[in-house]
Amino acid sequence: MRVFKFGGASVKDAEGIKNVYDVLQKVGYEDVLLVVSAMGKTTNALETVIKNYFDKSAELNSSVQEVKKYHNQILMDLFEEEKHEVFTAVNNQFSDLEYFLAHNKSPNYNFVYDQIVSYGELISTTILSHFMSFMGIKTQWLDVRNFIKTDATYRDAEVDWELTQKNIAKNVKRKILNITQGFLGSDENNFTTTLGREGSDYTAAIFAYCLNAESVTIWKDVPGVMNADPRYFENASLLNQISYREAIELAFYGATVIHPKTLQPLQKKEIPLFVKSFINPLLPGTRVAKGADLEPYLPCFIVKRNQLLISLSSIDFSFIMEEHISEIFALFHQFKIKVNLIQNSAISFSVCVEDKFENFKDLNAILSKKFKVDFDENVTLYTIRHFNDKAAQTVEKNKVVLLKQVSRETMQIITKES
Ligand code: ADP
Ligand code: ASP
Ligand code: MG
Repeated sequence: MRVFKFGGASVKDAEGIKNVYDVLQKVGYEDVLLVVSAMGKTTNALETVIKNYFDKSAELNSSVQEVKKYHNQILMDLFEEEKHEVFTAVNNQFSDLEYFLAHNKSPNYNFVYDQIVSYGELISTTILSHFMSFMGIKTQWLDVRNFIKTDATYRDAEVDWELTQKNIAKNVKRKILNITQGFLGSDENNFTTTLGREGSDYTAAIFAYCLNAESVTIWKDVPGVMNADPRYFENASLLNQISYREAIELAFYGATVIHPKTLQPLQKKEIPLFVKSFINPLLPGTRVAKGADLEPYLPCFIVKRNQLLISLSSIDFSFIMEEHISEIFALFHQFKIKVNLIQNSAISFSVCVEDKFENFKDLNAILSKKFKVDFDENVTLYTIRHFNDKAAQTVEKNKVVLLKQVSRETMQIITKES
């Protein structure tokens, strides 16, 4: 079996969905499991709905209507007949969402977030699977929440591999086109959970692992994994093949083309990962497999924006020792703040972090009781794998460098735009 993942960009409008059909015609769809994300920027739009809901904003209804309108337009463009059953199916999903908004009593933000944001994937796969049937491809729509079981850490759920493996082995039919949602799972009470933003690549890897798939292909709007994000770097070039290890490093440092959790399950079973263009599906793209690095290495550039550079120093000039450091890290973990770089000296300790859930203010209140806290907001973290002088100069040009760290393979530079 092959597992394909189509992300938001690939299904952002009717043309995109028709293109998925074309890709399947070209590369085959028998014995395939399709993992699909929410259409275009739907997840962001649903995040606005969630915010409006908690803020009790007057905009709540109009923000829901906007998501509805967007999907309705796609339906109108895809299906000539407004009587097609897909219209009712999607309408029912929106009614469920509205029912939840009207009746929910839980004040738990993360719980509510997952119950609402999941409609993006539920609706996109409903549309896609009806369209494939409409075009004559026999499909099976799977509710991923019956397969991927997780703990109850809403917005960042941990997979229960044993249960998930059982469900997938027992209930996924072979020899047919299966279509399911990326990003979602469910907890032991069957409430919807999500695996973290951009988690659909990971969903594809979970299915591939449990199905012993022959390969995973993630279809992207770029030719494959490149040595830099082509949005920010001119002359980015395609990496034809890379090892799992290199891919994990690139994803870990923030190359958003692959979600970092995707690689580990695939590497364990040596299932190759292909990253290919949904615009040119017959091109080879990038193959990620065991020991597949091409040498000499090209310098690879990874950019993380919107970082926070925090420096902690001891108030009384005492050393920042292991016990302080472990206490600080426990706090970062507790506040779900991701640490991307660490540097310490005798009496100070600097970290570059990402505050995705906007918890730094609360954390700072605690840290300030023990340490002198300085911070720079909105800094950029550049990582260069396989760096050389020229690569470093490219990054540093016209910027104020706040911190630089070099290890054997990797240079990291924190800058503020000058
Ligand atoms: P999806 O539609 O599957 O969610 P993403 O938008 O998450 O796709 O990933 C594709 C994007 O990743 C590209 O449009 C590109 O801008 C970005 N990207 C970041 N780093 C790289 C890289 N090293 N190689 C290719 N693309 C990259
Ligand atoms: N729709 C989700 C998101 O935008 C998951 C994904 O696209 O991978 O984060
Ligand atoms: Mg994405």
